[in-house]
Amino acid sequence: MTIRPKDFTKVVHAGVEPDPRTGAIMTPIFQTSTYVQEAPNVHKGWDYSRAGNPTRDALEEAFAALEGAKHGLAFSSGLAAEQAIIQILKPGDHVLVCDDVYGGTGRLFRRLFAKYDIHFEFLDMTQVEQVKAALRPETRLIWVETPTNPLLKVIDIQAMSALAKSKGALLVVDNTFASPIYQSPLELGADIVMHSTTKYIGGHSDIIGGAVMINDTKLYEEIKFVQFAAGAVPGPFESFLLLRSIKTLAVRMEKHSINAQAVAQFLQGHPRVAEVFFPGLSHHPQHALAAKQMRGYSGMVSFNLKGSYEDVVTFLQRLKVFALAESLGGVESLVNHPEKMTHASVPEDMRRKLGIGPNLIRLSCGIESAEDLVADLLEALR
Ligand SMILES: *Cc1c(COP(=O)(O)O)cnc(C)c1O
Repeated sequence: MTIRPKDFTKVVHAGVEPDPRTGAIMTPIFQTSTYVQEAPNVHKGWDYSRAGNPTRDALEEAFAALEGAKHGLAFSSGLAAEQAIIQILKPGDHVLVCDDVYGGTGRLFRRLFAKYDIHFEFLDMTQVEQVKAALRPETRLIWVETPTNPLLKVIDIQAMSALAKSKGALLVVDNTFASPIYQSPLELGADIVMHSTTKYIGGHSDIIGGAVMINDTKLYEEIKFVQFAAGAVPGPFESFLLLRSIKTLAVRMEKHSINAQAVAQFLQGHPRVAEVFFPGLSHHPQHALAAKQMRGYSGMVSFNLKGSYEDVVTFLQRLKVFALAESLGGVESLVNHPEKMTHASVPEDMRRKLGIGPNLIRLSCGIESAEDLVADLLEALR
């Protein structure tokens, strides 16, 4: 499991060309809403920043490069990116969604889009036959998040792509957890890749953002129209921050994954830990699939602590390096209680069915020293 050597070079240069006017090596922050025209509708390619902005253009090129895609689109949040994808559908359409999705994704689909008569069906996509049986003539999308959040199940992207193609549906992969460094869904047959760039791509816990990457030009035009018509775009400053973040994505991911592997192995051997969820452990149910479709296991580890809910709270409060907070993928290590925090909006029966209970803890391993992270956990488990 290693990062492709070329990716270290790619991330440093993705999307960024020296500014033609000044030679500035970084794309400037074009903090402008509008552009002066020479005659009505005669201009240099930009007329209004909802439609296009040079800093955002550079970011969109960088996004495309990261996933080896023809096209990239930038959004003001991961959920805005998801919304734009769903808005290419029409009433009556059917979407299959993996049951263990990010809480906000489930909420967007169940509470907002269900109102517009789009039918979302949630199911365990590690069971390929179940997905096959659930396909209908009106199925337009298969929506996969892999590894899943928070239980880190791994879904077979190639198998889902084959099922989608058999029915003329599109496969969307939320690649936020793996990052483009460790998984390339378009190469495995996905039609659309999306990211919450708030997480690993941003990487510094200071921005909210989303990305969509696509090869098919017609599909790109459809989603770009939603971006333009509805306007959930990032500003030039956020675009600049993301361009800056992307340069260190490969070196950050390398450290995130080294730390997560060390943390998972430590937890697995601790007597107070009941069960560890990490695709890089050999006992993980989809370990072989993860080893095949990913180039690394990324930085997320979940586990069940033995004992009562009070024991869990004591553990969370004793941690000093891991901060108790929502979100993930930043340079600093975070700990989250999915049942009460990120997945509180998931209906309770579904949470229980999935195994998101009071003893489940999710770690986002940062880029600190692995020894310090393990020592912090050991002390909190005393
Ligand atoms: C955070 C997250 C989202 C939503 O992104 P926002 O930037 O918070 O809108 C979607 N999918 C996954 C896997 C996430 O972790």
